[in-house]
Amino acid sequence: MASRAGSRALHVLRCPRRLRSTAAAPQEQPGEAARPAPAGLSGLRGAPRPLPPPPAVHFGDPRAAFSSKSSAELLRGLVVLGLCALEPLVERNQQLMTLSRKLLGQQLFETLMKMTFYGHFVAGEDQEAIKPLIQRNRAFGVGSVLDYSVEEDLTTEEAERKEMENGEGAGWAPLCSRRLFSGADQREKQFRVHRGFGDRRGGVISARTYFYADEAKCDQHMDTFLRCIEASGGSSQDGFSAIKLTALGRPQFLLQFSEVLMKWRKFFHQMAAEQGKAGLAALETKLEVKKLQETLAKLGIATKAESHHWFTGENLGVSGTVDLLDWNSLIDSRTKLSKLLLVPNMKTGQLEPLLSRFTEEEDLQMKRMLQRMDVLAKRALEMGVRLMVDAEQTYFQPAISRLTLEMQRKFNTEKAIIFNTYQCYLKEAYDNMTVDLELSRREGWCFGAKLVRGAYMEQERNRAAQVGYEDPINPTYEKTSEMYHRCLDYVLEEIKHSRKANVMVASHNEDTVKFTLHRMAELGIHPSESSVYFGQLLGMCDQITFPLGQAGYPVYKYVPYGPVNEVLPYLSRRAQENKGFLKRAKQERVLLWSEFKRRLITGSLF
Ligand SMILES: Cc1cc2nc3c(=O)[nH]c(=O)nc-3n(C[C@H](O)[C@H](O)[C@H](O)COP(=O)(O)OP(=O)(O)OC[C@H]3O[C@@H](n4cnc5c(N)ncnc54)[C@H](O)[C@@H]3O)c2cc1C
Repeated sequence: MASRAGSRALHVLRCPRRLRSTAAAPQEQPGEAARPAPAGLSGLRGAPRPLPPPPAVHFGDPRAAFSSKSSAELLRGLVVLGLCALEPLVERNQQLMTLSRKLLGQQLFETLMKMTFYGHFVAGEDQEAIKPLIQRNRAFGVGSVLDYSVEEDLTTEEAERKEMENGEGAGWAPLCSRRLFSGADQREKQFRVHRGFGDRRGGVISARTYFYADEAKCDQHMDTFLRCIEASGGSSQDGFSAIKLTALGRPQFLLQFSEVLMKWRKFFHQMAAEQGKAGLAALETKLEVKKLQETLAKLGIATKAESHHWFTGENLGVSGTVDLLDWNSLIDSRTKLSKLLLVPNMKTGQLEPLLSRFTEEEDLQMKRMLQRMDVLAKRALEMGVRLMVDAEQTYFQPAISRLTLEMQRKFNTEKAIIFNTYQCYLKEAYDNMTVDLELSRREGWCFGAKLVRGAYMEQERNRAAQVGYEDPINPTYEKTSEMYHRCLDYVLEEIKHSRKANVMVASHNEDTVKFTLHRMAELGIHPSESSVYFGQLLGMCDQITFPLGQAGYPVYKYVPYGPVNEVLPYLSRRAQENKGFLKRAKQERVLLWSEFKRRLITGSLF
């Protein structure tokens, strides 16, 4: 439930956004950027000191892009990116690696990999080995998001078998009302495991995949993440660490939880349609409580008297309307997480825990997953490290996002420690993000978001087409970019007005980065405030990362690390799935070559 302060704020927060925007805007002079004074000092010191105008960033300057690199590294970059542009080679990279391993022997093979692909895209084998690179990048204004990138080298058959064994719950059966959700007596197709997509590694760009083995393996993953957090804390003052929730528990739980959340939201939209409010943005959709009660009674879900207490909490129904956040709080205000999975029971009209049919062992598995998340978040808080929860497939993502939100509520009280990830290739991205942000406003915690376009497009589309549900992805690349910029704009406005939100623009797209810089300047968000971060993968788009870093913008590389042999399966897949992107890395190769030539001509190669 929201706090009292949250409920007081509710009235103000429900005012239209634009209105609040202008009302709350500080009086700024053109070219000045207001920096929030430290709490308690503003009154003593008077008006905040104006900051210098934001620094200019020159993305096309090869010298700025590669000044952190030795000439040997430039040459390696040229060779590696050049090879990555050769499609037949990328297609057959696995066979070629197996052959080279046979011909060269393990040791020579590892040396060759370190001199080429592994050396370019991976920071090193362990936390000690990656320190020099992290320190060097830091000296050039670039931080690190540590990402232990070991991936099990399973065959497709093994991956499918694991997924089928662990994806379906033995005792689970839905309790949803048939009248509420069409086809609700069956699991929704999207949230069922399908053998053909059991190997979740296919059609994914640059993302590691975890398969559930047992609880001990999940503990092992948690220990790895803990070491990552500790290394991030040890290596800088403002570190980030990335985690994936599919590594921390049985995916079955995420599937089922996602299904319930989606059904609950669908139910809300069905009720909105009944009231003639279909098609509005999530935050603009408000159900009239009276009509809602009538519909619930008509559907036989609850009599008016029975549903009365659903809408009489501290927040619910004060304005005679219920929005999606009020609706969601029906699930969580009366429960703790372990009892979260509630759906209306048709006979009683009451919310009942969906988990009641989990076996004892399954219930325990779910609790352990939540405990692991808690351990990680606590450690991150202690170490002053921010934790990014990666976004994954749409059939897991509602649960991942919701669990992350629960961590944010708990840990983001003073500043954004936990960051959720929003995939802008999703048709629902704007609704998802704005609803979460609105919740942070109402409850007074600090919103933290990483915005990405999304890594699972090909897999998502194939699965939706083959299994037979609506494609969750925007129809075109342009729509995805539009969505990205719309979401980004929304958070940037929030930062301007409350200075409580943080966002990471995780993209290699120069236009998106330029759009961000432009909007930051317009809104008076200065890079030194450290509320807008940028993120790119190691070995990719240094011409974006380093000029940003040197101009003083907080920018980070996702830094994969791990033993050569164990990182190679991930790297090999990444090369294949990124082949379109790598082919387009032409600009990077041109810049690398131009910097190499400059050093050669000026005699500064060494
Ligand atoms: C630091 C960092 C962290 C990341 N974390 C995550 C994460 O947690 N979860 C995750 O899913 N991804 C993550 N990614 C990957 C990211 O989602 C993108 O796949 C990748 O960055 C490419 O997008 P872009 O904006 O960099 O480049 P661009 O080349 O501008 O965009 C390519 C992307 O656009 C989208 N797209 C392409 N064609 C179409 C089309 N026809 N219709 C609709 N959309 C289309 C796809 O998402 C594609 O990946 C991360 C990336 C970075 C750099």
